[in-house]
Amino acid sequence: MAAHEPLGREYLLHEEIGRGAMAVVRRATSRHGGPPLAAKLLRPELAGDRRVRELFLREDAALRALSHPGIVGLRDLIVEGGTLALVMEYVDGPNLRRYLSMRGGRLTPPEVVVVAAQTAAALAFAHARGVVHLDLKPENLLVVRGSTPPEVRITDFGVAVLLGGGHHSVAGGTPGYTAPEIFQGGPPTPAADVWSLGVLLLELTTGRPDGDPSALPGPLGPVARDCLAADPRRRPPAARVAAYLRQFAAGVQGLPPVAPVSGHPMSDGEPVTLALGFPPPQLPQPTFPPPAPPQPPRAAFVGSNAAFAGPRDGSGHRDTIGSWAGQMPETGRYQAPPAPPRRARWRRGPLVTLAAALVVAAVVTGLNLTATAGARTADLATQVSVPPAVTPVEKGAESLPPTDGVALPPLNTPSAERLRVTMAGTVDGAGTLAISIRDGQAIAYICDGDRLEAWLKGTAKNGLLNLSGKNDTKITGLFDARRAAGEVTVEGRAHRFEIGVVRKPSGLYRLSSQVRGAQIDGSWIVLPDGRQVGVLLRGGTPGPAPVLDLAGRGTTVDGEAVTGATTIDADTGEGFTR
Ligand code: ADP
Repeated sequence: MAAHEPLGREYLLHEEIGRGAMAVVRRATSRHGGPPLAAKLLRPELAGDRRVRELFLREDAALRALSHPGIVGLRDLIVEGGTLALVMEYVDGPNLRRYLSMRGGRLTPPEVVVVAAQTAAALAFAHARGVVHLDLKPENLLVVRGSTPPEVRITDFGVAVLLGGGHHSVAGGTPGYTAPEIFQGGPPTPAADVWSLGVLLLELTTGRPDGDPSALPGPLGPVARDCLAADPRRRPPAARVAAYLRQFAAGVQGLPPVAPVSGHPMSDGEPVTLALGFPPPQLPQPTFPPPAPPQPPRAAFVGSNAAFAGPRDGSGHRDTIGSWAGQMPETGRYQAPPAPPRRARWRRGPLVTLAAALVVAAVVTGLNLTATAGARTADLATQVSVPPAVTPVEKGAESLPPTDGVALPPLNTPSAERLRVTMAGTVDGAGTLAISIRDGQAIAYICDGDRLEAWLKGTAKNGLLNLSGKNDTKITGLFDARRAAGEVTVEGRAHRFEIGVVRKPSGLYRLSSQVRGAQIDGSWIVLPDGRQVGVLLRGGTPGPAPVLDLAGRGTTVDGEAVTGATTIDADTGEGFTR
């Protein structure tokens, strides 16, 4: 694309600075001058897809509610013809994944404290406004170039949800970083982000996103352990983690020389205070609200729930830090969170939801507008009264009663390993995908009904999908009894997907035979509405597959009847044993 291409009436697009599964990010400037900007443009090949547009707009709606130094600021949403773009504050610097690799894979414990404290504070801010990020990982933290210690900003709220009364499905997430209850199809609550924060602590400190969190040095151990509690109710609120870590972060400036973890003063298992070797505070004062007076633990927890209703008083800072900070003892010793009340309900600011809903509605109905971020909210609030769009599950999907975050099954339940289902649906930009899961084994097929096709095999365990096939085709993602979501990489390109359970005769079929001396191999996905998408290889050359007669398990190729098609049947195991 040419440089200085216009974007809407106000902006000019410059070079590409990053790309993800959904978007290409380009540097941008305003024709009226001002600071450098970043424009996140929905990939053109996804622009026509209604669901991807909704996801993209979710990010807009989430960011709109968030103005915080630790969160990449949103300036504008541009919807113009086929173009959908978020114009954001430009963060000059690498993402944390790249920064980590430049640093040999991990940071020093004091740096981890600073990064985690900033991230926790930004999350607490988002949570207090009813927004859960749900895809926190090093790729989605941008590091301000030249900052020491690293100053980070959270980006990519593409998977975020605005919390409401109902059960939201989750559109993505990253294996390894996503909380176990999300794998299980549980509702996204702020505790899911706290889990990801725990994984981040582990990875930044040790170079690996797994391992024993308690073994981390100094204050990081107990924090990581509590963040990674299997029961989301046992995880501390992000605000509490922020308040705790800030005590240590305040003492970190021009960092001590990089020392092995075991030799660092924070590795003695005791909380570290400034007296143990940190230079005096120097970080710019963060914009935290003053601590509220101390509260008894239960009252503080209830208070933090109430804060999820979002700011009604316009203060913009009515988050949970105060109430939790009030419980932090002077010594800085970390305390386990109090037992939660039996039923926790999150609420969110109505304006956020209403604005999100209207923008989604406007765009999916094809409205052509260029709007300024701040201006719309008030206008829109009066016009719409539906909740924000949530991910639809494929037709024919099994519907399980939604959980409310109180009684999630633990991980690794036998039922999870014995799950026998087939899921199918379309994948934007790639075609149609079906995955059959039986007792931890998974078989998948993706095709475009013409020339692209691939079979994959692998595992479906602990809520994680991991399959691979020829030519580096792979699927990674999450699944539960109702749906699977993740990324499928085919022909070198990654595509996000979310598919739901289908029932027989929907599913996967294949047929191999000889027709007039030539080998033919057909593969089909049958969708719940009866549509078939398949590819037929004739002597290895792909083409559209003829219709398969499901009852007779046969088809006609070059006028010749061919029978003997088999299915991949999660119930009976047909197709799994070979
Ligand atoms: P996707 O939603 O498609 O995954 P991301 O929001 O993660 O896209 O952006 C992809 C990459 O683009 C990031 O990892 C980062 O390197 C770069 N990027 C995103 N937002 C900004 C920004 N505001 N300033 C500078 N670079 C950015």
